[in-house]
Amino acid sequence: MTTDGYRPIILLLGPPGAGKGTQARFLHDKLAVPHIASGDLLRAHRRRGTALGNAAQAYMDRGELVPDQLVVDMVMDRLERADTVRGAFLDGFPRTLSQAQVADQLLAARRSVVRVALYLEVPTEVLVERIAGRWLCPSCQATYPSHSSAPPGNGRCVACGDQLYQRADDRPEVVQNRIDVYLRETLPVIEHYARRDLLVRVDGNRSIEAVRTTLCSNLGGVVRGLRHNHWHVYFSDQFRADDGRSDWRGRTLCGRHVDSRSSRERGSEDDFRAHPCRRCQLELRARQGPIPDAPVLPTAQPQHT
Ligand code: ADP
Ligand code: ADP
Ligand code: ZN
Repeated sequence: MTTDGYRPIILLLGPPGAGKGTQARFLHDKLAVPHIASGDLLRAHRRRGTALGNAAQAYMDRGELVPDQLVVDMVMDRLERADTVRGAFLDGFPRTLSQAQVADQLLAARRSVVRVALYLEVPTEVLVERIAGRWLCPSCQATYPSHSSAPPGNGRCVACGDQLYQRADDRPEVVQNRIDVYLRETLPVIEHYARRDLLVRVDGNRSIEAVRTTLCSNLGGVVRGLRHNHWHVYFSDQFRADDGRSDWRGRTLCGRHVDSRSSRERGSEDDFRAHPCRRCQLELRARQGPIPDAPVLPTAQPQHT
């Protein structure tokens, strides 16, 4: 099957607490495609008290998976919305082999295709620690890590000022079950995309920024400028939205055109870090602006991971 003209779907897979939401909130903004997190959609249904929300409640509170059919229908329904016309980031879906198989078929019927499955790998003991300290904003879904039982900062979201909360299913007794469910149900999904040669394994046990750089270089890449001995970040036009100026083919973050992006020219993340284009780097940082990773307050502690 040729995938030309197919709507690109990017999957973000990984255990609970791996950092999927943290990374997706940044990447979807950069790629200008929506971030669709099945957990966020389910929580929104619960808040609205819909039939789906009520049906999902007991499963979520126990850390069990919501039945496949309900979740698949919910995600496919979301993919009907106009903002997904250029593609979407799916976070936390699919979670079972059956979801993956059904999704592959339903996506193809909608002229959509999974282009890449980014898999964040993080050791279990780190997951448990991260989840215990996870505080969320109910409005914008930003997450804030805390290293004590108190909420981080003044307990409010830096981006929108809302009161932060902890998820009921982030309690330690539920978290272990979620991790067990993940190992049993979701590892086969990882294998499924590995067999189809779509899986990219990413070490998620590093700083948020380091993980982000690796994800970026896998989504588009890092390419050496033709006349400059430094590396630019570019995003391939299949992911990049039309910004109303011109097409994005070969365009880097700093706006230069780098026509040759053959694999020979492509660098690694380390190359970019060692010899970055300053303007690409500044642009990368500027685009991270509206989505905070942690409150910038004197009480914020460094990450011990
Ligand atoms: P995590 O932080 O574990 O990635 P999520 O917010 O993605 O958590 O999911 C929270 C809960 O929502 C899960 O424990 C499960 O009950 C339900 N859920 C989310 N996505 C799915 C899915 N694809 N299939 C079944 N249940 C799901
Ligand atoms: P997921 O969506 O995979 O369940 P989150 O993105 O919500 O995970 O991250 C879980 C917690 O860990 C959050 O409190 C987040 O701030 C924190 N976190 C995310 N990525 C990292 C990282 N690379 N290093 C340290 N903490 C992280
Ligand atoms: Zn917020």
